Amino acid sequence: AKGMGKAGWQRYQSDLAHAMVQRLELRTQLHEAIEDEQFVLQYQPIVELVDQRVTGVEALVRWQHPTRGLLGPFHFVEAAEENGTIIGIGGWVMREALRQFAAWKAADPDTSLRYISVNVSPRQFLAPDFVEQVRSALAAAGARPEWLLLEVTESLVLKDAAKVVQDLRALRALGVRVAIDDFGTGYSSLSYLRQMPVDVLKLDKSFIDDILTSRQQHALVDAIVTLAGNLDLAVVAEGIEEAGQRVALDTMGCQYGQGYHFAKPLWPTEIPALIEATRPA
Ligand code: C2E
Ligand code: CA
Ligand code: CA
Ligand code: CA
Repeated sequence: AKGMGKAGWQRYQSDLAHAMVQRLELRTQLHEAIEDEQFVLQYQPIVELVDQRVTGVEALVRWQHPTRGLLGPFHFVEAAEENGTIIGIGGWVMREALRQFAAWKAADPDTSLRYISVNVSPRQFLAPDFVEQVRSALAAAGARPEWLLLEVTESLVLKDAAKVVQDLRALRALGVRVAIDDFGTGYSSLSYLRQMPVDVLKLDKSFIDDILTSRQQHALVDAIVTLAGNLDLAVVAEGIEEAGQRVALDTMGCQYGQGYHFAKPLWPTEIPALIEATRPA
């Protein structure tokens, strides 16, 4: 604020106040947004690094706000987690993602799509009837449990509450797979994860960013990929933005990748065309 002058300072103060009011408004509008079904989903492809075939998609929520336009999760997911509306939002996301995925499978029996990834917030997972919600969402969509990959956070798994382990087991018994999202940003270790009933590690973008410029970072990711493989965990590298990163990760033995290099989050109507375009001859 230095050198702003009095008018500039007042302006800065009123901008701050304005931003706070906007955040509070959004928070109170979340309940209404659920009732009015103002949420929409985009889908970001997850590819096999070896041949870049699209084998999965991750559902990413957006809020089609009546006056502010399309809002990304940054604007509301934290607030929704805090006031509990994430439970309703997350329930809708799961049902809608499964419905859409089942429709893609039905429309194209030869599709390369094998699974859909759905983000689950800690508050949503810890709700008493979460496993039942998953079961009924699968049934309502006519979706097979093997199609669903649930992305949970490291912090949830670290809680190690008996309920978390028990529910992870119950989900896997159904045939649903579980991924640790943003792996590496929390404090869990691979040896600890070994004891958790999970199937997939999603290696956070912050680990991928520097693999071409930092030997240490490259060595670290290489070691994680090797260890994960020995522990029978599949690895998805997030945030791949350049071909060099894809090649490096593939060489390390990392099987899956996601990022702008392959595709940004897409609207549902764009997915079948992409699948068609990447279908092997
Ligand atoms: P995430 O689960 O780590 O999802 C990946 C985010 O990284 C997405 O942002 C995606 O658009 C972005 N991304 C993907 N590839 C690249 C890349 O190459 N470069 C860069 N710079 N970014 C990339 P988005 O859609 O804004 O989502 C942000 C976060 O919001 C997600 O991070 C996830 O934690 C949360 N989120 C999204 N949808 C849901 C949901 O339905 N439920 C819950 N609980 N959280 C969600
Ligand atoms: Ca995710
Ligand atoms: Ca992630
Ligand atoms: Ca991330």
